[in-house]
Amino acid sequence: MSAKLIKGAEVAAEIREELKKEVEDLKAKHNLVPGLVTILVGEDPGSVSYVTAKQKTAHELGFYSVQDNQSADISEAELLALIDKYNKDPKLHGILVQLPLPKHIDSNKILLAIDPNKDVDAFHPANVGRILIGNYVFLPCTPAGCQELIVRGYGDPKGKEVVVVGRSNIVGKPMVAIMIQKKQGANATVTCVHTGTPKDRLIEHCRRADILVVAAGVPKYVQADWVKPGACVIDVGVNRIGISEKTGKAILAGDVDFDAVKEVASVITPVPGGVGPMTITMLMKNTVMAAKAAAGLIKF
Ligand code: NAP
Repeated sequence: MSAKLIKGAEVAAEIREELKKEVEDLKAKHNLVPGLVTILVGEDPGSVSYVTAKQKTAHELGFYSVQDNQSADISEAELLALIDKYNKDPKLHGILVQLPLPKHIDSNKILLAIDPNKDVDAFHPANVGRILIGNYVFLPCTPAGCQELIVRGYGDPKGKEVVVVGRSNIVGKPMVAIMIQKKQGANATVTCVHTGTPKDRLIEHCRRADILVVAAGVPKYVQADWVKPGACVIDVGVNRIGISEKTGKAILAGDVDFDAVKEVASVITPVPGGVGPMTITMLMKNTVMAAKAAAGLIKF
C-alpha cells in the first residue's frame, strides 16, 4: 500500500494562517508588530530569490519588514556596523543575514554579532545552548519544520523511536535536540547515525525507527528494506541529480529512494514539496516568537 504524502506546502499554509491570526491579535491587544530585516550581500540569484520569498511572506503576514541590499564589496566592518544598528532597533525583532556571504567576510563573525534574541535562524551558540537545555524561544527552521510535519502529518512522537540520519549543525544535531525535549511534540527515544556508524548497524537502527528523519545529502540513500513497515519518513535531502531536457530545470531527488520506500512507510514527505516549503514559514514563526519575547509576553 502506498504511504500518505505529507505535503509541506499545505502544512506551511496552515501554519501561516495561524500566524496571521496571531499577528492580528498582537497588534490589537498589545500594539505589537513583529519586525524582520533580511540582509542580502551581493546579487547571487539563488539568494535573491530566497530573500524575496522571505520578504513577501513577512509582508503577507502583516510584519514590519525591511529588505537591506548591500553590494558584494561591503567590508566586514561595515556589515558588522549594520548588524549593530539593527540589534539596537526596537522595531526589528528578527535579523536574517542571507548566506553564503562573499569570501572576504567571515560568516561566523557576522552570525556571532547578531543579538541572540534576534537570531531567528537560531544558529548563534547561545541559542544552540538554550535548545539543548530546553529553555528556548525558537528553533532552527529546517528541523523545526520537520517536527511540525511529524506532529501534523503522523502524530505525537512521544515514546516513539526516532532515528536521525546525519549530524550537521543545521539539521541533524538540532533535530536530535528537538525530539529529546521533555515537551509536547517531542519526548521521543532518539538515535543519531552518521558516517561513523558502520553501514550494517546504520541499517539496523533505521529498521527500528517509528520516525525516520534523513538528512545525509546522499541521493536515494535510504532503501525500502531499511524502513519499518508503517514508519513515518521525513526526507530532508535536496540533491540535484540531473537537468530535465524538457524544462532545462534541475531534477531533484531526496535522500530516500522515494518510489520504493513509499510502499513500506505509512506517511512520507516528497522531494520537492515536503520539508522545503516549511523553512520560510518557520522563520516567520520565529520572528513572531522573538517579538513576543521582546515585549515580555513570553520568556527567553
Ligand atoms: P551536511 O552538512 O553535508 O551533513 C550531512 C550529514 O550526513 C553529516 O553529518 C554526515 O556525516 C552525514 N552523512 C553523509 N553521508 C552519509 C552516509 N553515507 N551515511 C550516514 N551519514 C552520512 O548536510 P545538511 O546541511 O545536514 O543537509 C543534508 C541534506 O538536507 C542535503 O541534501 C541538503 O541539501 C538538505 N537540506 C534541505 C533543507 C530544506 O529546507 N529542505 C535545508 C537544509 C538542508 P559526518 O558528520 O560524519 O560527515
